[in-house]
Amino acid sequence: MLTDYHLHLRPDEEGTKAELYFTAENVDRYLAAAAAAGIEELGVSEHVYRFRQALDLWRHPLWVASARDDLDAYCEFVRTTPLRLGIECDFVPGAEQRTAELLAARDFDYVVGSVHFIGEGDAAVDHDGFDVWGGGNDAEKIWSRYFEMLAEAARSGLFDILAHPDLVKVWGRERRPLPEGDLRRFYVPAVEAIADSGVAVELSTAGLRKPVGELYPATGFAELCVEAGVPFALSSDAHLPEQVGFAYDAAIELLDALGVGEICVFERRERRLAPLGARVG
Ligand SMILES: [Zn+2]
Ligand SMILES: [Zn+2]
Repeated sequence: MLTDYHLHLRPDEEGTKAELYFTAENVDRYLAAAAAAGIEELGVSEHVYRFRQALDLWRHPLWVASARDDLDAYCEFVRTTPLRLGIECDFVPGAEQRTAELLAARDFDYVVGSVHFIGEGDAAVDHDGFDVWGGGNDAEKIWSRYFEMLAEAARSGLFDILAHPDLVKVWGRERRPLPEGDLRRFYVPAVEAIADSGVAVELSTAGLRKPVGELYPATGFAELCVEAGVPFALSSDAHLPEQVGFAYDAAIELLDALGVGEICVFERRERRLAPLGARVG
C-alpha cells in the first residue's frame, strides 16, 4: 500500500479560489496522478488558515488575509469524492481548546499538525514575508524553539500526523544558517514527546522540492523515530496534481533502509498500519 495524505488541491498563492480548485475535475487530475504512481489511498489536507473558521484560533496577518473559504463546505465537497478528508492545522499555543473544538466538530479522517510559526509574534520558519531568521535570532535559538514547539504540538494530542517534522531546515545551508554539530540534540527531546504522545510522523518528499533538497525528516531524526517505535505516514505535500507521489522512490528507499515495512492508514481518525508498497511507473 502507498498513500499520499498531505495534499493541497491548490497552490498557496493569492487568487487560488476554492471554486476553481474544489471541483470534481481537479480531484480527477489528482486521482489519475495517484493511479499512475501506484498510490492507492489519497487524502487532502488543506491549510486551516484558508478557512474563515481559523480566525477563531488565531488572527495572524497571513490568516486574516487568507481566511476566505468555509471549512464545512470544504468537508462536504471532499465527501463527494474518493479522497480521504484531512486538514493541515497549525499548532497555535494557547488555542488548544479552540483547536480541539474546531477539529471535533468535523468528521475528518485524519489531522496533520504543523509547526510553521515559532516566534513570540508572527514569525515563521518557512515564509519570506514573516521571516524568523533575522533580528539577532541565531540558528541555535531558532532550532531549539522550533523543536520545542514540535514537542508541544505532539503532546497537545490534537493531531494524528506531524507534518514535515524538521521543516526548520527548509532554506538549506546556503540561504539561512544551520546550527553547528550533531543535530540530534534537537531531535531527541522532540522524538521523546512524539513517542509518548503516540502521534505519527510524516515522511514527506516536499523537502526535495525546497532549497534544502532533502526529505523531511532527516535520516537522523527518522532513525530515532524507528528506535522509539513511532509510525510513519507517507506524503508529498503536493500543491499540484503532478506533485502527487513526488520522489516517492527516495522515501521508500529510506523506509527500506530503516527496516520500516509498514505505513499508517487513517479512517475517521482511527489509525492502522498497512504493508509498505512499491511505486510503479
Ligand atoms: Zn506545512
Ligand atoms: Zn502542506
